[in-house]
Parts: sequence; structure tokens; C-alpha cells
Amino acid sequence: MFVENVELDVDAHLYDDFPEPLNGEVVFVGRSNVGKSSLLNALFGKRIAKTSSTPGKTRSLLFFKVNDLYHFIDFPGYGYAKVSKVEREKWQFLVESYFKSKRPLKGIFLLVDSMIPTQRSDLEAFDFFKAFSNVFIVLTKIDRIKKSQISKKTEEVRSEFRGAKSIVPFSSVTKEGLTEINGILREILEKKRGDVFEQR
Ligand code: GDP
Repeated sequence: MFVENVELDVDAHLYDDFPEPLNGEVVFVGRSNVGKSSLLNALFGKRIAKTSSTPGKTRSLLFFKVNDLYHFIDFPGYGYAKVSKVEREKWQFLVESYFKSKRPLKGIFLLVDSMIPTQRSDLEAFDFFKAFSNVFIVLTKIDRIKKSQISKKTEEVRSEFRGAKSIVPFSSVTKEGLTEINGILREILEKKRGDVFEQR
């Protein structure tokens, strides 16, 4: 496991709330209900990330302090059908204020649900985020699709998200893919094996 210790550092509603940068940070983002809290809890080894009780309500950016050295940032979910214009604008404002500030961003994990076809909001998010850092796609809930379908789905997603650094099939139930994600974290945050990523 990459994460040895973790605590919620700051629940940031505004730019002024952002904590002092540490040695590096990674962002986790995806549609509401994609399985982001489940992934974070699997990485943390404990239940500390929470699902929003009201999907579509933009909460805040949650900065988790990991190993006293890094921030893992839980971005609010997007793409909830019934979200109001005000909430959509709030999301945009928060996210843009993050990217406008100088942060030691090392990578973005964009979560995509393997149980549904790729959504336009996912492709729009990818286009937006890839301008800021390397994007790693985590294909969630793969325990829910047939084994024989996993590689087909992975290839499909690879062709849709052109330029993604890797596509990692993941399940928070079976923990498949967890080792690979921990490996990516080690590479991007600790630079153990340099900067080079193979396109899988
Ligand atoms: P979030 O809104 O993105 O934080 O999503 P959650 O992690 O709260 O997950 C949303 C729903 O999907 C919950 O009912 C989870 O139990 C379920 N879920 C999340 N990950 C998985 C997974 O890997 N496999 C399965 N079968 N269900 C999952």
C-alpha cells in the first residue's frame, strides 16, 4: 500500500481555504456515484472518504494529508442529471480556482463507470483535465461486468480517452487494480521509476 497514514486536512469551500502545498498532490474526480469514495477508502485502508448524501450538491474540495507528505484531493462529483445551474457553476468555480492556483499537481485520476456507456460529461471532463496534468482513467465496478467483457471495455475506453496515461480496471469489492493504482501513485509522487509511462 502506498498510504501509510491519512487524515482529512482541509475541507475547502473557497480558494482561501486551500492548505499550504506539501510535496505533491493528486486529484480524484468522476461522476457522482462512480465509486470515488470507495476507491479512496480502498487506498486509505479505512473508511474516511464519504459519499455525498445529496448527489449533485457540490460540497467542497477535500484535501487528505497522506504520509505527512502529500495531498490526495477528493473533487466533487459532476454529471448528476438533476443538478441545478447554480450547483454546476459552483463546481466550475471551485475546480477552476484550484487550477488557477499554483499547486504541485502530479496527476489526475478520472474515474469512469464500467457498468454504463461512456457519458458525454466524462469525455468533457477528460478534455478539460488533460490540459493540466497526466490523466489516469480508473474503470470502476469491474466486478459487475463479465470477466470476458473487461478487456473489451478497457480497449473501448482507451480508444475514447485518447492521451490518457493508462486505463486501470478496478473494483473496490475484489480490490482488483488496487496494486496497479498504488504503483502509479508511487511513480508519480515518489518518482521511483522516473517520469515515463507506458501506454497500456
Ligand atoms: P461516489 O459517489 O463516487 O463517491 O461513489 P461511492 O463510492 O459512494 O459508490 C457509489 C455506489 O456504487 C455505492 O452503492 C457503492 O457501494 C457502489 N460501488 C462503488 N464501487 C463499487 C465496486 O467496485 N463494485 C460494486 N459492485 N459496487 C461499487
